[in-house]
Amino acid sequence: MSAHVIDGKALAQDIRAAVARDIAQFHRQTGIRPGLAVFLVGDDPASAVYVRNKKKACDQAGLMVDEHTLPATTSQAELLRLIEQANSDSRIHGILVQLPLPPQIESKIVLNAVSPEKDVDGFHPCNMGRLVEGDPRIVPCTPYGILKMIQSTGQAIEGKRAVVLGRSNIVGKPMAILLLQHHATVTVCHSRTKELPAICREADIVVAAIGRAQYVKAEMVKPGAIVIDVGINRLDDGRLVGDVDFDPVRERAGWISPVPGGVGPMTIAMLLVNTIEAAKRLVQRA
Ligand code: NDP
Repeated sequence: MSAHVIDGKALAQDIRAAVARDIAQFHRQTGIRPGLAVFLVGDDPASAVYVRNKKKACDQAGLMVDEHTLPATTSQAELLRLIEQANSDSRIHGILVQLPLPPQIESKIVLNAVSPEKDVDGFHPCNMGRLVEGDPRIVPCTPYGILKMIQSTGQAIEGKRAVVLGRSNIVGKPMAILLLQHHATVTVCHSRTKELPAICREADIVVAAIGRAQYVKAEMVKPGAIVIDVGINRLDDGRLVGDVDFDPVRERAGWISPVPGGVGPMTIAMLLVNTIEAAKRLVQRA
């Protein structure tokens, strides 16, 4: 039987509508419109598209966006100065630095300079540390969105075997921690993992985040599993595909997320959630 397709686009739309209502109420109560500062450095075309989509979602939800489009030659010192400005600007409640940054700028230094309270991407060591300790404040948007997608299946996470493919700081690692926090038994695989297909086959939940087109084949998937595809890969013929070989895996899995229309829209929706929640905390504290 064919798997249920997890419609990330529809789920994200519901979340975005709820955030818009939340923002309107926050505005009525406080007179404040939550603000997001966005930094785009250089002219990477994919980054420009991501920023455009995020800005559109913010506009629709009623967030104020302060967009900084900076040339590829921007120095690290200049970017740090602008981030410091946003850190101390009371109209700004969230700060997003679009990655990748040009080679003269060290991403780690820049991400660490964002105030943890305004770090709506959840990449600051303080937010990562809190997540690992089991007391999260701001959860990275992509894993947070994936968690919502898994929960949308109505299946319990507790006690399940989960396999996360990929161990990046922005997807794989925080995803594994989140699943652990929800009481799954978690295995993380990466490029040095031996017997990856066999490990993957044991999973009730698979999250594929390796950036390898159609890598996860049907025979690597346990019948009935929940399969979440994070990958975004462009084939030579121009098609956009995920890390999962969608059609054959769909015939074996219980639930599967598509690319496009799966994790991507959820990542944007969770950015809005993180921004309104950050605004509420900052205003409450002021
Ligand atoms: P990274 O390149 O930072 O990390 C990739 C991870 O996959 C690494 O841990 C790497 O292992 C592992 N890996 C690579 N090849 C293999 C392999 N053949 N077998 C097993 N493991 C492998 O990528 P990201 O985590 O940033 O992104 C992963 C994918 O998700 C990309 O396609 C990206 O475009 C997409 N993405 C999508 C988002 C969305 O919103 N939809 C958001 C973020 C990312 P090792 O550590 O050993 O090198």
